Order: sequence, then C-alpha cells, then structure tokens
Amino acid sequence: MKAIQTEALLLRAVAYGESDVIATFFTRTEGKISALSRGARKSVRRVGGALEPVHTLLVSLEDRGRELATLKEARVVRQRSGVVGDLDALDAAGVALRWLRHVCPPRTPEPRAWDTMNTLLDVLDAREQPPRSALAAAALRLLADVGYALELEQCVRCGRPCPAGKAAFVDPSRGGLVCQSCGGARMRLGGDLRERALEIAAGGNPALTKDEAEELLVLVDATMAVHAPGLE
Ligand SMILES: [Zn+2]
Repeated sequence: MKAIQTEALLLRAVAYGESDVIATFFTRTEGKISALSRGARKSVRRVGGALEPVHTLLVSLEDRGRELATLKEARVVRQRSGVVGDLDALDAAGVALRWLRHVCPPRTPEPRAWDTMNTLLDVLDAREQPPRSALAAAALRLLADVGYALELEQCVRCGRPCPAGKAAFVDPSRGGLVCQSCGGARMRLGGDLRERALEIAAGGNPALTKDEAEELLVLVDATMAVHAPGLE
C-alpha cells in the first residue's frame, strides 16, 4: 500500500451507491487518478466542501495499485472564489478540466500541464483577462504540455516552412499545417493569428481578440477530439 499526499484538482465526482463518491483528480505528482471516497455524501466532515472543482486541494490517498485509490482526506489549499462567482470563468475552467480528464492517461504525471492548468485558474480567478482569451492561450499550451503540440511553422507532410505572417491550412488530425501542394486542409488559420499562436507556444502572452480566441478554441477542440475520441 502506498500513501500519497499531493495537490490536486477535481476533474469529476460521481455518486456511487448510497453514500460514496468516485472522484477523479488531476494531481501534481500522480497525474490523473480516481479514488473512492467512502461516505462522502453523508459525512461532510472529512472531505468538507473540498469536492468542488477549480480550487487546488491537498488530498491524501491510499493506493493499492487497483483502478481506484481510496480518498482518506481532502482539503482546499487554494480557494478560487473569483472563478466560482463568475459564470464565464467557471465555464472556461470547466472546459479545460474536461480536456484534461479526456486527454490525460491515468497515473501519468503531467507536471507541465499541472502548472498550465493552475496558472489558468489563477488568471481566471484574478479576472486578469477575458475568460475565453485566457482559455484559448492555455489550451494551446496544454496541447503542447501533454505531447500534442500543433506544428504551426511548417508543413507536417513535406516540411516546407510557412513564411511568417502568412495564412495556412491546418489539419488537426495530422498535427498541424498542411501546405497547398500537399493537399491543404479544411481549416485555415489567418496569418496574424498564426503569429499569435506561435508567440503563445514560445511562452508569450499576446492579447487575443474575442474572435481570435474563438477561432483558436475551434482548432484546439478539434485537436483534443483527435486525441480523445470520447470527447464530444
Ligand atoms: Zn507540404
């Protein structure tokens, strides 16, 4: 039996039987892991209000190597009331948490995605940026963090670089740009937006207009769906 104590975000909580809950967490040290919380629906004492998404939790788990670990204790260590109190921020957080739930394999640490997700939640909490813009930028980073970065500089088939500032075709199922000689693709990324996406990928934080954010989110959604077929 392995005792685990780690910071965690709640990805999902599903009622199980009369009084238990199966909680799926995205944790700092173990990646995604599901745990049975016995009596969680009857006793609010042990896990309190901790089974709520968007806050960073400290969880204690008992792991016997089975599919489900056992949740011994959970408490909030970083509360984000600013997210809970804003429907758009809450929605953006929910979208990102859902992506993680679908694209992260169980029990595989994803330290970069952990950082990106917590940074996004902090930005949403502080209301520093419009929620959808913050989500779009974090989304591109999350793809890269879990190993599904989109190639936006050169054609994924022939390797020909796309000149800076030029619009390009993107095929999420092929992982990035597909030049016209290689058949192009249905989705098209404008030149300016492609530059901004590259800036984000390089660690920058360019301002995105509402339309740009929505366009990037369509692209990211399509890419996530390629890697997580269960994502509707
Ligand atoms: Zn090509």
